[in-house]
Amino acid sequence: MNSHLLPTYARVDLAFEGGEGPWLFGTDGERYLDFTAGVAVNGLGHAHPHLVAALNAQAQKVWHVSNLFRIPEAERLAARLCAATFGDLVFFCNSGAEATECCIKLARRYQHACGRPERYRIITFEGAFHGRTLATLAAGGQKKYLEGFGPVVEGFDQVPFADLGAVKKAIGPQTAAILIEPIQGEGGVRVAPTPFLRGLRELCDEHGLLLVFDEVQTGVGRTGSFFAYQRCGVAPDVMAIAKAIGGGFPLGACVATGEAGKGMTAGAHGSTFGGNPLAMAAGNAVLDIVLAPGFLDKVRRSAILFRQRLAEIKDRHPGVVAEVRGEGLLLGLVASCPNGELVEAMRAEKLLAVAAGDNVVRLLPPLIIEEPDIADAIDRIDRAAGRIERAQLQKRPPNPALASSLPLPQAGECKERVGGG
Ligand SMILES: *Cc1c(COP(=O)(O)O)cnc(C)c1O
Repeated sequence: MNSHLLPTYARVDLAFEGGEGPWLFGTDGERYLDFTAGVAVNGLGHAHPHLVAALNAQAQKVWHVSNLFRIPEAERLAARLCAATFGDLVFFCNSGAEATECCIKLARRYQHACGRPERYRIITFEGAFHGRTLATLAAGGQKKYLEGFGPVVEGFDQVPFADLGAVKKAIGPQTAAILIEPIQGEGGVRVAPTPFLRGLRELCDEHGLLLVFDEVQTGVGRTGSFFAYQRCGVAPDVMAIAKAIGGGFPLGACVATGEAGKGMTAGAHGSTFGGNPLAMAAGNAVLDIVLAPGFLDKVRRSAILFRQRLAEIKDRHPGVVAEVRGEGLLLGLVASCPNGELVEAMRAEKLLAVAAGDNVVRLLPPLIIEEPDIADAIDRIDRAAGRIERAQLQKRPPNPALASSLPLPQAGECKERVGGG
């Protein structure tokens, strides 16, 4: 591939010229079942008629005016988000990293406004992912992303995931907030236990800290509730949203209680594009669908069905799938083989999935997925697992006990493959 794009991604040699619902149409003439959903962004699938109409209608009116002026569509979306969550105040931006960055600034500024400017440190968790700006990288604390980018932004204390004792120990006189994903997405679909989140809430209340949830991946219906915190009944003070809220249009938001947001006065923060009319049209259209009566019930039903069927896959292919985990339609297969091999085998079956940390393959179907497409996906995953098992057999040295029943390769061929890893 000869490209002028900065090579920061190891891209798959696949491109698409259209899509409909959970399907993507490749320039190679193939149809792909899209269980990446643009990494949890296309919650309503591709070319959803309501989103297409809303964006087209807004495109005829006004695209962008900047935040020098009132934006009625933004006021409406903020009001709807607050009515449906713990929030009182919303700041709109254009991505997940910016949303989390705003949460970080807001938390520090809150303590400042409370007369505790020495409190600026934020406790975060191993395996976290909060974005690629310098501050959100520091919050995520992953060495592979920080290397070579100069001094790491100061003020983050990282502790093991779901370890309440470690959190208690890390709280000091400079601590401002605790930042956590209720389910780590990039980190490998690791679900924070509810008692742990409840423990964080209590610690925050006891010590005057803000509890910040990064719901960039878990939000907007992905886990079967509007936001993941609503499933576990532990409300944060501040929340980062992005990915699915724009249905594919770049949109992020920081949602806060009135108390938590009290430091963010005029001039404290800003964004040129944030909350522009096009993005707001997309966001409002997404909420029309996701908050419609019955929509999230349907997501939960689809999720239960998909998960049951994945459990069958695990039982049938233990050499490929070790565990199924996650919540709602944020599901991960812990692979018994290298996760990249499983993603590739699925792609060979025209099913698109995303790798994650912890050797996990993430399955993120659009929320509008219907039963026949779930069944179709299961067949593809079953065949992909079969592909890997056949390859595993070929790699294994000849076993005389199996020789009569299985077509094994020649000994020489085998040795080569084992040696080649
Ligand atoms: C994707 C993601 C981000 C970063 O979002 P961008 O839009 O890529 O900046 C932050 N936090 C979580 C939990 C995410 O999944």
